[in-house]
Amino acid sequence: QTIQDELLAAIRTIKDYPKEGILFRDITTLLGNARAFRRAVDALVQPWAGSKVDQIAGIEARGFILGGAVAHQLSAGFVPIRKKGKLPHETVRIAYSLEYGLDEMEMHKDAIQPGDRVIVVDDLIATGGTAEAACKLLKSMGANIVAACFIVDLPDLGGRKKIEALNVPVRTLVEFP
Ligand code: 5GP
Repeated sequence: QTIQDELLAAIRTIKDYPKEGILFRDITTLLGNARAFRRAVDALVQPWAGSKVDQIAGIEARGFILGGAVAHQLSAGFVPIRKKGKLPHETVRIAYSLEYGLDEMEMHKDAIQPGDRVIVVDDLIATGGTAEAACKLLKSMGANIVAACFIVDLPDLGGRKKIEALNVPVRTLVEFP
């Protein structure tokens, strides 16, 4: 079984969640499948195995689960990028637009040193708005973003192009049309 087939089979699709007309790709079933979880993490990091990566920036919340495993695998640190108001120390913040209205994400001011080699991790890229904001926030702190990695790409929504336009290479493992 190819890794793509295994990962696609391990992801559950929920109709009309969180609202009517949306097909939600639920990766909790992949996380609960020991072999699929390991293969996904191994495949995500494979291009950077043995190279120097300073920090993994995980996007709340599913990016924390994957990002922690990726950080361990690459012997890198982990930096959480969170919804506003959750981090206890001084933060830097960025606003970004959602389907309806604005939201803000933030990270600790001292979490990244200028020049750090950073990989951004989340479970899925759709429009790319979330990952774009995370990349801009990291760049504003002087990060050298080596890549942005996702298990799932929804290519019809154009997220990859948005991230590549920031000069950040994108790695994804499977696609849903
Ligand atoms: P974007 O900003 O690229 O439009 O949306 C991506 C963000 O929303 C990610 O943080 C991702 O976790 C979440 N997201 C959007 N749609 C889905 C989905 O179908 N499945 C999962 N697991 N996450 C989604």
